[in-house]
Amino acid sequence: MFPVSRFVSESAAADLLRQVRWCDGVECPRCRSDLTVRNGSYRVYQRYLCKNCGRTFNDKTGTIFAHSKLSLKEWYFTIYLFLRFNTSIRQIEAELDLSYKTVRRRVERFARALDAPSITLSGPVEIDEVYVSAGLKGCERDQASRSRGLSTRGRGTYDGDKPPVFTLVDRGSNERYVVPAKSADESTIRLLLADRHQESLTVYTDGFRAYDPLEEDDAFTRKYVVHSNGEYADDDIHINTCESHASLARRWISPHRGVSKTKLTPYLRAFQLRRELFRKPGDEALKHALNAAL
Ligand SMILES: [Zn+2]
Repeated sequence: MFPVSRFVSESAAADLLRQVRWCDGVECPRCRSDLTVRNGSYRVYQRYLCKNCGRTFNDKTGTIFAHSKLSLKEWYFTIYLFLRFNTSIRQIEAELDLSYKTVRRRVERFARALDAPSITLSGPVEIDEVYVSAGLKGCERDQASRSRGLSTRGRGTYDGDKPPVFTLVDRGSNERYVVPAKSADESTIRLLLADRHQESLTVYTDGFRAYDPLEEDDAFTRKYVVHSNGEYADDDIHINTCESHASLARRWISPHRGVSKTKLTPYLRAFQLRRELFRKPGDEALKHALNAAL
């Protein structure tokens, strides 16, 4: 259910932050000491005194919500609409009567606070790459940056404003990952597949050449489908789950109309988070989202 109370009452919003942030007890954000006592309040936020370093702090100190023009309830509403409903920043701006710039900055500050997914593979694994149109929206354009130079025809490149985005589906753990990269080459692929449980990891790919070296390597068992031969799914050998997940990722980015390539990583981490809180009830989803950004 939509957690309305957290969006209308600042003290209900602050209460939720306290629950999430101090679930293991209050800790000084400066010296990490737990020798803290309640010390009055700052507006509706609880203030604390650290007996170790003698400084005071409140519920928001040291989080992305500190020193913000937005109230916590506005932050929550923004994050919730963004993650849950894939709402564009323009639309959030209209709902909250804030400026476009304010909303975009907050969304991006939130997304940048999210940790990189730690990829540990059980296998077998499907891996595939797509090329997302992402230029330098909102950034100073470098005069020479559009030269195609030595890039391979037909494949996108980071410099050509079509950076590769890898999708991995771990059939063992049912986890999915979407990771943007600078280039779709062997070393990137090896890095993505580095952390694994299986002695020899079974990897399903398409016929892209950059996966070829995996065949020479005992650490991998590579099996592939060649799309151009009209060969799509040979029993287990397919990358269909990858392809459908990649299309969800594309749909996630699309309302934001050309996310800059420098911001693809935070936006795709938010996509990962969206999957984690999918089907969680409203309040739980919001807690999970806050916890991810603390
Ligand atoms: Zn302290």
